[in-house]
Amino acid sequence: MKIGDRYFEPFIEASEIQFAIQQLAEQIYADYSDQCPVFVGVLNGSILFLADLLKHYKGDCELSFIKVKSYEGTNSTNHITESLAFDDSLQGRSIILVEDIVDTGNTIVYLKEAAKKKNIHHVKIATLFLKPEVYQKAVKLDYVGIRIPNKFIVGCGLDYDGLGRNSSEVFVLKE
Ligand code: 5GP
Repeated sequence: MKIGDRYFEPFIEASEIQFAIQQLAEQIYADYSDQCPVFVGVLNGSILFLADLLKHYKGDCELSFIKVKSYEGTNSTNHITESLAFDDSLQGRSIILVEDIVDTGNTIVYLKEAAKKKNIHHVKIATLFLKPEVYQKAVKLDYVGIRIPNKFIVGCGLDYDGLGRNSSEVFVLKE
């Protein structure tokens, strides 16, 4: 199928993604059942994952957002722009950063540092997808849904130049 000016092919079915999200919600609840964590969605990509994660999460929780951007087209850049910062009310809270995908890890490293500056001490990371061949950072990824090869994917919140986020299955760029 064509998304924007590029061709993509089916890669991960919606049922597999939903199963992974349900497992993650259970793992997180096992760690936080006696607390009220704040799920902090990293906009825009996390939006579908976050919605499904919250629907499966059994305990008390709150919701917040941060907005950053590091990708141009199909490439990660070292330059991260933040257009919505951590809310001041998160100071001293336990938060779970919710990411669509961890690739180089630059975004996660940036967000961990930004959280520290805001005195948010308890920060865990949940990501729906991870590219283990690319990720070389020391930051621990606490909850990982599906590991994928080093390929560019679209769907389930992930976009190609703004398009394709609204698909419940994931497509991969045709080489
Ligand atoms: P990182 O900073 O880990 O290199 O990349 C994080 C961000 O880059 C993700 O939140 C996502 O927005 C974008 N990204 C990384 N890999 C992909 C990919 O395969 N497809 C899409 N659509 N975005 C990606």
